[in-house]
Amino acid sequence: MPPAYDLTDHAYDVLVVGAGGSGLRATLGVVEAGLSTACITKLFPTRSHTVAAQGGISASLANMGEDHWTWHMYDTVKGSDWLGDQDAIEYMVASAVDAVVELEHYGMPFSRTEEGKIYQRPFGGMTTRFGKGPAAERTCAAADRTGHAMLHTLYQQCLKRDAAFFVEYFVLDLLFDRQGRCCGALAWNLADGTLHRFRARATVLATGGYGRVYFSCTSAHSCTGDGGGMALRAGLPLQDPEFVQFHPTGIYGAGCLITEGARGEGGYLTNGEGERFMERYAPSAKDLASRDVVSRAMTLEIREGRGVAKKGHKKGDHILLHLEHLPRKVLHERLPGISETARIFADVDVTRKPIPVLPTCHYNMGGVPTLHSTAVVNPAGKDENRVVEGLFAVGEAGCVSVHGANRLGSNSLLDLVVFGKAAAEACAKTLKGKGKVPPMPEATCEQKILERFDRLRHAQGEHRTADLRDALQHLMQEDCAVFRSKDVLQQGKERVQELWQKLPQIAVSDRSLIWNSDLMETLEFENLLLCATATLACAFERTESRGAHAREDFPKRDDKAWMQHSVVWVEGGKTRFAKRKVHTQPLTAETIPPQERVY
Ligand SMILES: Cc1cc2nc3c(=O)[nH]c(=O)nc-3n(C[C@H](O)[C@H](O)[C@H](O)COP(=O)(O)OP(=O)(O)OC[C@H]3O[C@@H](n4cnc5c(N)ncnc54)[C@H](O)[C@@H]3O)c2cc1C
Repeated sequence: MPPAYDLTDHAYDVLVVGAGGSGLRATLGVVEAGLSTACITKLFPTRSHTVAAQGGISASLANMGEDHWTWHMYDTVKGSDWLGDQDAIEYMVASAVDAVVELEHYGMPFSRTEEGKIYQRPFGGMTTRFGKGPAAERTCAAADRTGHAMLHTLYQQCLKRDAAFFVEYFVLDLLFDRQGRCCGALAWNLADGTLHRFRARATVLATGGYGRVYFSCTSAHSCTGDGGGMALRAGLPLQDPEFVQFHPTGIYGAGCLITEGARGEGGYLTNGEGERFMERYAPSAKDLASRDVVSRAMTLEIREGRGVAKKGHKKGDHILLHLEHLPRKVLHERLPGISETARIFADVDVTRKPIPVLPTCHYNMGGVPTLHSTAVVNPAGKDENRVVEGLFAVGEAGCVSVHGANRLGSNSLLDLVVFGKAAAEACAKTLKGKGKVPPMPEATCEQKILERFDRLRHAQGEHRTADLRDALQHLMQEDCAVFRSKDVLQQGKERVQELWQKLPQIAVSDRSLIWNSDLMETLEFENLLLCATATLACAFERTESRGAHAREDFPKRDDKAWMQHSVVWVEGGKTRFAKRKVHTQPLTAETIPPQERVY
């Protein structure tokens, strides 16, 4: 018997799932284009993880020194370790200045220079003159609360235009018609327990990353890869999920982020011997080498016995970040948020003492594959760019791919607004003047979705969701972190299979439909498990080291075999793997050919 749930129907031109930076920018663009839009979000919009972004948003404004978008492009391609798609990268960096000026005009309160221009700071991997000049001052900041300023600005602009928000609605899954076209989504209203069927001609996935597959991460509890889970359940793949960014400076123990802007303002790292070890690993960029490079260097220092030990302990297990030499005015004006974070979470007064830090999971370079228009693709045989009609993906949930194997700091906030806007433009282009939204086609997968929902709601197994999630987070932390090898990854794959076997015996104790966080976390856990399975499968297949993916058994980059995206489908724990070509041809610029990546 199919479960009996009443569905409330809605129809819109465009459905945006997610209200972080990317979802809000897409919503704003769609409303401005005169299309009817619903933005659905499981969190209140300004609680999305984007609010936590600290350091800034990159754009070659050249407010503080010379700069050019082609230099930004070079840095981004090099930062991506030549896995980024150069058409998408050109599109992003060439749109960056306009995107930031637009945010300024929307009212975003950027920090200012003496002359009143937008303040910009240096960030890891950002250089001038194609890597030959000094560090670029390219990252536009609102103190160390840039994401907060950006998210509130975008939300207010959406409210001004009367965009429709469905807040604290949890999207269960996407709906598809018989031809495989996406035609909306099914959502659960967390507050009153009702279920809603959203019919839309275009759906934009903007659900953020899945940092919560790791035990120690900087991302919010809500970053559970729901968009990735929905795509995989619908038979669509993820691309490049093995590329997980570890940020060098998560607070030791707590995991909270200390922005790279702290090193941009002059902070530096030392090991247990008090040595500024980054000088050995990256002689020219030093502490501002890109994140994968710094995280690996820190891990090696600790492994080789030069970590800093906790009081009363012999074994060094962390690194120190020094800010105490910086003028108080700089700390007060440019880094007030992290000064507070360090006090609360590390009990450190940054004007006196260094902060204990450790590489911590921070960002997913991989996601649902898209073209630079943000249209989702599902490669089939020779047709690597087969478009899934009616579906777009943006932000950390998508993989467009501008970050390739390693994202440069401050390029994500840029990615959100540039491709959020691009998605809105793509929707406007295909949908304008189409008249009323047609009724829901008959053959959708909603029965399957309701059955899953009902099954989990009444799950009476022996394994608590929290225990399974804990096991998942620990296995990912142990078997798929900064350094990887065949044996360790094999172990990770086996441990993940054990969780798939336990899944039918999962336990949910709350059967209600209203504010049932037990059920919501269970739905999220399934999404995490799918994303983790995809991540491990691709990390295992990719027998080279590139960007954030460091294989101890294959320490070299192998362009011949692996200058390729990995694409993976997951069904019931089983994975299918394929490769997809990297787009090396930019839109107008010249291709940046692969080189050795040194900083
Ligand atoms: C601590 C921290 C600091 C950072 N600092 C910087 C920085 O300085 N510069 C930079 O460029 N990048 C930074 N990043 C990265 C960047 O902030 C993120 O990649 C980016 O904000 C992600 O935005 P998003 O729009 O993709 O998703 P998010 O902001 O994560 O929003 C996801 C949205 O999807 C919704 N959602 C998810 N699942 C569902 C569902 N099932 N149903 C309904 N709604 C759903 C949520 O409610 C939310 O609104 C930082 C990241 C972290 C964690």
